[in-house]
Amino acid sequence: MILDTLRNIVGQVGRARDLNAALSAIVHGVRTTLNVAVSSVYLLPRAQVGQVNARLVLMANEGLAAEAVGQVSMALDEGLVGLVAQRAEPLNLADAPLHPRYKHIDNIGEEPYHAFLGAPIVLRGEVLGVLVVQDREPRHFSDDQESFLVTLAAQLASSIVQAEISDAVMPASANRTSLLSSEPLRGVPGASGVAFGVAVVMYPLADLEGVPDRVCDDPKQELARLRAAREAVREDFVALRKSMAKRVSEEECALFDAFAMMLDSESLLQGMERRILDGQWAPSALRDTVREYAALFAGMDDDYLRQRGDDVRDLGSRILEHLQDVEGFAREYPLRTILVGREITVTHLASVPDGRLAGIVSARGSSSSHVALLARALGVPAVMGASDLPIERLDRRELCLDGYRGAVHVEPTGVLREALERLVGEEVQLSAELATLRDEPAITPDGASVHLYVNVGLLADMAPADNVGAEGIGLYRTEIPFQVRDHFPGEDEQTRVYREVLAAYAPRPAILRTLDVGGDKPLSYFPIIEDNPFLGWRGMRLTLDHPDIFLTQVRAMLTANVGLDNLRILLPMISGVGELDEALELIVRARNELREEGLLIAEVPVGVMIEVPSAVYQIDALAKRVDFLSVGTNDLTQYLLAVDRNNARVAPLYDSLHPAVLRAIAEIVAGGQRAACPVSVCGELAGDPLGALVLLGFGIDSLSMSAGSLPRIKRVIRSVPLERARSLAHAALDCERGEDVRQLLRDALRGYGLGSLVRSDEDI
Ligand code: PEP
Ligand code: MG
Repeated sequence: MILDTLRNIVGQVGRARDLNAALSAIVHGVRTTLNVAVSSVYLLPRAQVGQVNARLVLMANEGLAAEAVGQVSMALDEGLVGLVAQRAEPLNLADAPLHPRYKHIDNIGEEPYHAFLGAPIVLRGEVLGVLVVQDREPRHFSDDQESFLVTLAAQLASSIVQAEISDAVMPASANRTSLLSSEPLRGVPGASGVAFGVAVVMYPLADLEGVPDRVCDDPKQELARLRAAREAVREDFVALRKSMAKRVSEEECALFDAFAMMLDSESLLQGMERRILDGQWAPSALRDTVREYAALFAGMDDDYLRQRGDDVRDLGSRILEHLQDVEGFAREYPLRTILVGREITVTHLASVPDGRLAGIVSARGSSSSHVALLARALGVPAVMGASDLPIERLDRRELCLDGYRGAVHVEPTGVLREALERLVGEEVQLSAELATLRDEPAITPDGASVHLYVNVGLLADMAPADNVGAEGIGLYRTEIPFQVRDHFPGEDEQTRVYREVLAAYAPRPAILRTLDVGGDKPLSYFPIIEDNPFLGWRGMRLTLDHPDIFLTQVRAMLTANVGLDNLRILLPMISGVGELDEALELIVRARNELREEGLLIAEVPVGVMIEVPSAVYQIDALAKRVDFLSVGTNDLTQYLLAVDRNNARVAPLYDSLHPAVLRAIAEIVAGGQRAACPVSVCGELAGDPLGALVLLGFGIDSLSMSAGSLPRIKRVIRSVPLERARSLAHAALDCERGEDVRQLLRDALRGYGLGSLVRSDEDI
């Protein structure tokens, strides 16, 4: 019962249109559930969160004087509400006025209330506000009541932030609450750079919740679209009813009649039409009407009626499907398109016409997600893991992305805009400077050379990779051509793709990695459902269980190499020698088969990715079996630190400069040197100026990175002597925290005049 009520309130808050509606739903829900006289929500303005001089503002209330809302505020060291926020602990008092911290506030009608219960609203360690209930008679609130309020406060924190942010990015003409100033929306850096552009929201088809707000210029046309879609759904029902009638009873078929009745419901229809006449386009008018009705049903006590909420939602999705059909779903991409979505995929990227992509903002994912890697390859900024992003409010709005800090500015104005425009200008200048390095060698001032390669995946990356003067391909992720198809590519199809890649670089070497699907790299046509995909059937584990897939791929690689001779094969996700031996045997088998078929197949160097902690501890045994080692710092970091590389919630913990990761890399380099086996790094650390500096100091032979990062890294190598890099790497190994490593390396780069490569919050 309590759980249901909780779920109800949380659901209503999640669906609220704006902050005021969200807060009203909270105070009303709490007051009726706990049957108390007063219920209030106090919030800290966002810009003050975490500051000692912050003031809590009474944002919503039932039971006190209505005028108090928005007027009453208190410092953290004032009153009982301040005490709850200060201590970040609940406070349950039988007689509040007797408490030394009690503070009387005039004219709000608080006098008659004695019992007080407050719970802090906390998100990711920061107190955002306080939830309070009060009652007339002196008494302690029961344990159940206290735990209800505490649980509710914990579950509401992120919805409140969502609603706040959503309000703050309302178009200038609409109402804005004053809690948020021009604060940017925050995510984590995905790909560096600063860019202005126009948001295009990507949303899955028929996903009502993903529909963005859009204004309609022609309500008449929108109404016609809506009617056509309703008619189409009605026809669907007739057809469905007919086909079901053969299989189920008449009673079950009545479900379709109920749906049809709902479809004709005057109030539902009027709700949608009113919203369209108010200026919304049909899909968002539908979304909001469905939300309103689904919430009504969800709030009912009767189980049967509650479930009708799902029916309304189902009906909404059906209408939406047809609206999108009518729309033909042709998206328009402005000249400077910034893709925005809950989850931006490789296919979304591929759908933007050439030259129009200016940036990416994704609510999910982190800096090592594959879209972020691709953004780097394409040289556009990306902000990942912006989990509080009010996606639906952003379509067609002007955004400025700051990929260095992971910030998104919505329609920035004034001084902020000037500062951002200055950064964009500096970026252009930096790119021009870096372009002059194209044909210069990657040699340190004291004469040490490091080979610089590029990571590629889409054929679209090939040209940029060539423009930056790479010495070859250090990592070709073959899963990407697999991901953009709707079937396993056959041997001939794969041979053609690999041939194109090898030929583009010959005689420079090209390292093709065998299929690394599973984990966060799904194939739509080969679904893998697992509780822990990153610890599951992924990379080599999957292809060894499917030697057919592996052999086909290796045969295609070897055939593509005929006459070019620049292929190297790399094996992903190796966790022990058993897997490696098995894979090496299969490679020999593929080679022998092809030779028997009469092809002139050359021996090719084979390398192994070191990206699982067990491989670090078996480095000698692995190194003696292969021709080269390639460190995958993206996965190595994830597995060493036990931090999911795509989980925005733990993104601050994901740090490839963590001293533990650096120590592991130092071990790998030492193991490679003992076996005279060259070591390269192809994870994202190689393309980070700070990472490249420390890797140079460790004595790495080559670095492979996105094309967009290569010129910066070349600049680092050409500026810092190897001797200095070595002493920095030593010092980094002695650091105890990632921040200390970062500070050390950043200061060193600034000392060499390379501050523009490592922007931080201090720059704006
Ligand atoms: C890595 O893990 O560092 C790596 C290069 O592989 P991927 O990012 O494709 O998993
Ligand atoms: Mg990997």
